[in-house]
Amino acid sequence: MAEKHDKGGRGTLSALTSRVPRALRSPFSRSGRHSTRNRILAGVVATGAFVAVGSPLVAVTDDQGGGSNNRDVAPVAEQRPLSAAVNGTPEAPESVRLGSGGSNEDDSEKRDLDKSEQVRQQRAAEKAKQAEQRREAEQKKAVQEQATKKKALAREAEQQEKQRAAKAAEAPAPKPKKLVAEGFLTSGFHTRGGAHAGIDIGADTGTPIRAPQAGTVISSGPASGFGLWVRVRHDDGTVTVYGHIHSSQVHVGQRVEAGQQIATVGSRGQSTGPHLHFEVRLGPGAQEINPIPWLKQRGYGLG
Ligand SMILES: [Zn+2]
Repeated sequence: MAEKHDKGGRGTLSALTSRVPRALRSPFSRSGRHSTRNRILAGVVATGAFVAVGSPLVAVTDDQGGGSNNRDVAPVAEQRPLSAAVNGTPEAPESVRLGSGGSNEDDSEKRDLDKSEQVRQQRAAEKAKQAEQRREAEQKKAVQEQATKKKALAREAEQQEKQRAAKAAEAPAPKPKKLVAEGFLTSGFHTRGGAHAGIDIGADTGTPIRAPQAGTVISSGPASGFGLWVRVRHDDGTVTVYGHIHSSQVHVGQRVEAGQQIATVGSRGQSTGPHLHFEVRLGPGAQEINPIPWLKQRGYGLG
């Protein structure tokens, strides 16, 4: 088709020349008629090529038929890059090149490849995402299972604790702790008349004596009248006195716990038989108080 128009173009050159707009014609006239013809020819060829890709075919055909209206040509000249047409640029117009060929097929092939690669990557990403989601779900499940297990264990422990408490409640109350094992009260507390500032608890020589409350040892050794004694200052400031003891198991400055053995029963000093003389004072050298209620408050019996 393009060839046909090319031929037509050459055949009707003189007729076309007269139809080229004045604006196009005037610069050509300066460089001679022959070169002007060549340039116009190039322009016409280019016009033909342009027509070949589907532009105003009707208008050109009309020209060949001998139409004399300049406006028929003008739209073609306007649509073409003028410099390319006039200077006879050998390159095909952009519109023609786009229409032809192999390179575009290569491009589309490349695009297809790119696209398939994209699809492949997308699928891989989706797969990875799904795997990640599965992993998260499994982790969540494991955590939940662990929590359930923990709860069950806690319930079990709670039940066991309840059973233990019930059993303990059924059991008989524990016997009061003893200041002196197998001891008995031989003389009570009676300050009136200044006779006795403590209590006497009779027991065999060597019977253990226990501290009824935690404290610090402030005396351990010989003492006038008591023969040998131990004194303990408790954390509330109260002082307990243990007289006529056979032996001491503690030393001054030592920390003792409630229930810890500190001495044994003896008969040293002014004593007629083995017993513990026990006093409670509100401070070192301070007023004595009745030891029996004081011991009871701490869960201790005499013996
Ligand atoms: Zn006494």
